[in-house]
Amino acid sequence: MIIIMEPNASEEQIQNVVNHVHSLGMRTVLNCGVIQTVIAAIGETPKYSTDQFEILDGVRKVERIQVPFKLVSRDSHHDDSVITVRNNIKFGGDNPPVIIAGPCSVENEENLIAIAKIAKECGAKMLRGGAFKPRTGPRMFEGLGKLGLQFLDVARKQTGLAVVTEIMDVRDLDLVCEFTDMLQIGARNMQNFTLLNEVGRADKPVLLKRGLSATIDEWLLAAERIMDKGNSKIILCERGIRTFDNKYTRNTADIAAIPVIKRLSHLPVIFDPSHATGKWNLVAPLAKAAVVAGAHGLIIEVHPDPEKALSDGAQTLNFDNFKLLCRELEKLVSVLSPVKS
Ligand code: PEP
Ligand code: MN
Repeated sequence: MIIIMEPNASEEQIQNVVNHVHSLGMRTVLNCGVIQTVIAAIGETPKYSTDQFEILDGVRKVERIQVPFKLVSRDSHHDDSVITVRNNIKFGGDNPPVIIAGPCSVENEENLIAIAKIAKECGAKMLRGGAFKPRTGPRMFEGLGKLGLQFLDVARKQTGLAVVTEIMDVRDLDLVCEFTDMLQIGARNMQNFTLLNEVGRADKPVLLKRGLSATIDEWLLAAERIMDKGNSKIILCERGIRTFDNKYTRNTADIAAIPVIKRLSHLPVIFDPSHATGKWNLVAPLAKAAVVAGAHGLIIEVHPDPEKALSDGAQTLNFDNFKLLCRELEKLVSVLSPVKS
């Protein structure tokens, strides 16, 4: 951490800052310029907020050198982490993008199995579907709960697809773990620290969606919390963020977040073109853009009759459009094989 003093800071103020840093168990190195003194604080700086130093008399600015997300950072693990789901599904590194498909909400067994069969036929490796749904309005369809999990289990057994479903409440952790291969932390819960702590103690891969208005640092710090508690099987998911313009898209698709995450972290990152756009006809172009940008996978909402879907119908692909997109993606992936420099 670098503490930049005001040009007119007194010797006493400089010494006071140095003493404060020492009192926290850190070392200091002073750079006394002609105009300003700069104090480097060395040690366990991530433990302390910059505010603690900024409020001291004579301090102009405090800057961190180290990223606050140590475990998920590439600084601590240089190579890409490959996260394996159910022994054979690999996210990350040079593995081809993994497709996850399914309805927004699990609605009934028949419909879910029909979707799962199409997903499998098109090359998807995982089935998505919410049994516990975070809904803005209290009287909207909130999912089938345990019954929904049981339908996911039936679909998983019939098709061999692995399952990912959202966990909203720590009290449901054991139940959800029993029926799923990967736990989804939804955008609205990205900063539910109790939930993050608990999935950090679970022995299941975690799909961590980016919060509606989370910065990249906040998102990586949420992943850091899960890893700090012992679970390093984390896959990040960009799903669009809130900006000033929601006239034509539900969210703003932050495609740049994909290469940014790949530079900052060793964890795999996938993209959700359904929630990122909110419009079914934008799903295919954005899905392809994300793959070109380096996404390690896609999570896509699919339903036989999107107009009848109990949630998120407007952003859901019907079977024909999903099949078409999968064929296009296959072609795209084949031309994107890495060029050795
Ligand atoms: C979902 O996947 O259906 C969902 C609610 O996603 P998000 O948390 O990204 O809004
Ligand atoms: Mn949805």
